[in-house]
Amino acid sequence: MIDFEIPAEAQEVRGRVRAFVQEVCIPAEKELERRPYKEVLGELRAKARAQGLWCPFIPKEHGGMGLWPLANALVQMELGESHLGALAMNTQGPDDATMLTLLTYGTDFQKEKFLKPLLNGEKRICYSMTEKAAGADATGMQTRAVRDGDHWVLNGEKWFSSGATAADIAMVMAKTNPDAPRHQQFSTFLVELPNPGYQIQRNVKTMNPESELGEMMGAGHAEIIIKDLVVPHENIVGGEGQGFNMGQHRLAYGRLRHGMHNIAMAQRALDMATKRVLERSTFGKPLAERQGVQWMLADCASELYIARLMLLHIAYKAEKGMDLRQENSIAKVYLANMVHKVVDTAIQLHGALGYSQDTPLARWYTSIRSQRLVDGPDEVHRWTVGRNLLKAYKEHGTTAPACGGDLI
Ligand SMILES: Cc1cc2nc3c(=O)[nH]c(=O)nc-3n(C[C@H](O)[C@H](O)[C@H](O)COP(=O)(O)OP(=O)(O)OC[C@H]3O[C@@H](n4cnc5c(N)ncnc54)[C@H](O)[C@@H]3O)c2cc1C
Repeated sequence: MIDFEIPAEAQEVRGRVRAFVQEVCIPAEKELERRPYKEVLGELRAKARAQGLWCPFIPKEHGGMGLWPLANALVQMELGESHLGALAMNTQGPDDATMLTLLTYGTDFQKEKFLKPLLNGEKRICYSMTEKAAGADATGMQTRAVRDGDHWVLNGEKWFSSGATAADIAMVMAKTNPDAPRHQQFSTFLVELPNPGYQIQRNVKTMNPESELGEMMGAGHAEIIIKDLVVPHENIVGGEGQGFNMGQHRLAYGRLRHGMHNIAMAQRALDMATKRVLERSTFGKPLAERQGVQWMLADCASELYIARLMLLHIAYKAEKGMDLRQENSIAKVYLANMVHKVVDTAIQLHGALGYSQDTPLARWYTSIRSQRLVDGPDEVHRWTVGRNLLKAYKEHGTTAPACGGDLI
């Protein structure tokens, strides 16, 4: 029998996080219009920590809650309902995935110097891999690192480094050995900011309306020139030539976290849409009584349901230590499109109000468009998934193992 009962301990922590998000974070969103961001966030973080809500998946010995994958997924599915939720519990991207990388691959020195302040919420970190020259195929990146005694000297450019203007540390990928096999040419460096060699040119203007507040929260995406950037050898994470492997490790959790937050956002959007159609009448009837409207809500419910099951299955596989790369790619694409569809439907049902900035829907819509690009664009994941299907068929005479078929 497949047991869908959520363990009591996970239910308990989810309940506490839900209450924190609904009663503390969502009301605080309005506070940001009146009071400085750092003050509001400082208060939220103090409240979160006082309740033991801090760094959910980080082991307890490092000051986190030590949640295992299922409980973490449930918690993240609550946090995404407010753009202050993850920040309040110090589990926001891109920091969270990077903390995980440092925990797994960092040396004792790196953990003490770089990881500790991240875990304490004293510092923030950004990740600089993508360049104008290369994104989806990151092996095309041009930034070069050349060894000079105990140091490396980096030269090149980066762009779309999220949160760089709010960061105190950057994780920078660069080519250290052009003669090595393709995926072993790159290493990852920890760079202290501000740094004269890591020159932030601007936050790139995107379809998401920029705001000073957003930039402070780490929502900007920076273009950077790397010029004679000197980095000590001891700041290489995970060993020379391991940058690509580690990047994939880091992105894997990031993809899932985006998906978890997408579920929360979609849930909030669907609730808003449902409330709206119950309250709004047109042509003499509440919108909620129109079958066409009910179908729109039902389609969103189906997608949300599938999305939840996907994540729970992935959490199950993670807890059992099973390979979940195929499911991760499938879910990444599905969840990014799901949230897009649900938020779009909510906007539609709100009419002009949905298009306005009087609800968060318009802001969500423009920000989540990026989900189909970040952490690997849809097409690259679908390409991988398709290749795995072909491989499974050739090996087993069925594609089932590559599309969740190990369940049956
Ligand atoms: C909001 C946002 C935040 C980001 N944050 C970060 C960050 O913090 N750090 C960082 O390093 N990067 C970041 N990125 C960059 C992101 O990882 C890249 O945009 C992504 O990897 C795609 O690379 P690209 O933009 O160069 O697109 P390209 O590599 O030029 O690809 C363009 C399009 O081509 C198609 N395509 C590519 N390859 C294939 C294929 N094999 N088969 C079929 N179609 C294909 C896809 O549709 C793809 O969208 C961010 C991007 C965005 C939009």
